[in-house]
Amino acid sequence: MNGAIGSRRVVALDVGGTAMKGAVLDADNRVVDLYRWPTPRSEGPDAVVAAVLSAVDELLVHADGAVAVGLVVPGLVDDRAGVAVYSENIEWRDVPFRERVVARSGLPVGFGHDVRAGGLAERALGAARGVDDVLFLPIGTGISGAMFVAGCLIENKYGGEIGHTDVGSGEDCACGAHGCLEAVASGAAIAKRYNRVTGGSAAGGREVLDLMVAGDRAAATVWGEAVDALARALATYTSLLAPELIVIGGGLSHAGEALLGPLRSRLHELLVWQQEPHVVVAQLGDNAACLGAGLLARAAIPPTAP
Ligand SMILES: [Zn+2]
Repeated sequence: MNGAIGSRRVVALDVGGTAMKGAVLDADNRVVDLYRWPTPRSEGPDAVVAAVLSAVDELLVHADGAVAVGLVVPGLVDDRAGVAVYSENIEWRDVPFRERVVARSGLPVGFGHDVRAGGLAERALGAARGVDDVLFLPIGTGISGAMFVAGCLIENKYGGEIGHTDVGSGEDCACGAHGCLEAVASGAAIAKRYNRVTGGSAAGGREVLDLMVAGDRAAATVWGEAVDALARALATYTSLLAPELIVIGGGLSHAGEALLGPLRSRLHELLVWQQEPHVVVAQLGDNAACLGAGLLARAAIPPTAP
């Protein structure tokens, strides 16, 4: 490989609950190669940490001369300290990932939270380019957001947990509270609520949407309640932080206008005097967090001496 090209490359790894997605990115943050590994969650948190480290090793072999590493993980993450504080899903605690990857690779390492990194990528390369006040909200198994206020990303490790705002549903949430948005509007919650009413076996939100489109009334009720809950949480967010733009990502965003159309109208009804945000679908899809890890990698490279 041409060393000059290889020397500007970075590698990026996005660790999820079921899979780890890796990429080799060129100097313009374009994907050169994508890789995927299963996350060995059932083998315990130490096995997942070991798998993350060996995936980084493997990416560096593929990248041939990469100059930095970007790594993003889920859960509670201290971006500045470089520590994965806690993940309910993976069950690790206080893993000093940045330090460990630096020691292993000898390269600068950018480290952060998967959703915040996805937000960075949508703002730099995707649907939120040029907008300063943005909420990036992926809706998947859980719901949390990357919040940009006046162009700054809020990096507080406890921030952005919009999925745990009380939307008044009274539903029990996995977090131990009641009434959380996530317990009504995550893909898993939509399926669970539909199955509870009908005795059905829908596997996810998308399946409930298909049933609704086919005329299933219970599906329409459950979907409508999810949209209403989302709109309520977004109305609260709008009153507090006045985003110009809300970018919906994650698995549920594949529903497109079937989600966004009713969501916009319900939000319009709920907002009285507030500035109404534009609500759009994310552009980078499933690669957002991985591309964000690439941006963090590049930001970790020390400036070259003049
Ligand atoms: Zn909750």
